[in-house]
Amino acid sequence: MLAQRFKLIFLTGGTSKKREFNFTRRLFFLCVSAFALAFSLLSASTGFFLYEVHSARYLSALKYKNSELDNQLFTAYEKIDLLEQKVERLGQNGNDLRSFAHLPTLHPEIQQMGIGGSLPYSGSVEFGAEDLLIKIEELDRQLSLQENSLIQVHEKLDKQAEFLLSVPSIRPIVGGSISSLFGRRRDPFTGEWVPHMGLDFNASIGTPIYATADGKVVHVSRQPAYGKTVVIDHGNGYKTRYAHMNRYYVQKGSKVKRGDPIGEVGNTGRSTGPHLHYEVILSNKHINPLDFMFDGYAMARMP
Ligand SMILES: [Zn+2]
Repeated sequence: MLAQRFKLIFLTGGTSKKREFNFTRRLFFLCVSAFALAFSLLSASTGFFLYEVHSARYLSALKYKNSELDNQLFTAYEKIDLLEQKVERLGQNGNDLRSFAHLPTLHPEIQQMGIGGSLPYSGSVEFGAEDLLIKIEELDRQLSLQENSLIQVHEKLDKQAEFLLSVPSIRPIVGGSISSLFGRRRDPFTGEWVPHMGLDFNASIGTPIYATADGKVVHVSRQPAYGKTVVIDHGNGYKTRYAHMNRYYVQKGSKVKRGDPIGEVGNTGRSTGPHLHYEVILSNKHINPLDFMFDGYAMARMP
């Protein structure tokens, strides 16, 4: 069967010329096999060549990308370094605030918790994103520490502000003159030396009287000696009394803020003329109101 012969005829110029090739079946298969082998080799070579070209391009792109990432990582490290410096300054300022609020300052070791000195980057690729993440976590811990510290400072300052608002610290009337100081004085009626438990301000009838600190009105009444009187409880042991008033603007239970008008200067009770008798009481003990006027009137203290 292999001996069967094949004839290949080429016709050129219509049917005028023809060429004939005679070959056996074996030769035919050999030719076909050779052609298939050559085609396969060519295909494989082409494929390999294309693969190499593609790989080279891919590798080049990867190198470029890697270089870009390297630069970005370096930039990120530089920024993290700056952030660390800012966090350190924040810690120093936070400690100043803690001192201001009379809170214990944070120990340097606690301040430095998570701050590990200079960054490992030195221009080589001996660093990576993992180091960066560690640094970010350290900064996160530092910032959380400062955040909690500032919350503590805020709460402490709030309490101090609340306390200061309860301390009588302004003049109870605008204008007027101090006519009698805290301490011993001659009684204007009897001429005897008697203790004077407050401060007297001469002022015309109707002059507004102001609460000298935040508080709650606990007493509003007319008394034989004090005349029309208001007492405010400011909390933390502080109370103030306003006597010889003409009119009240408040009633028992009223809540007042520092500077709120509570009544008017009058001449009621045991009084020789229109004036305000003003007392400051701390823990049931009378104290000199001039020591609590922080709006400049302490300078008016007489010898
Ligand atoms: Zn008085």
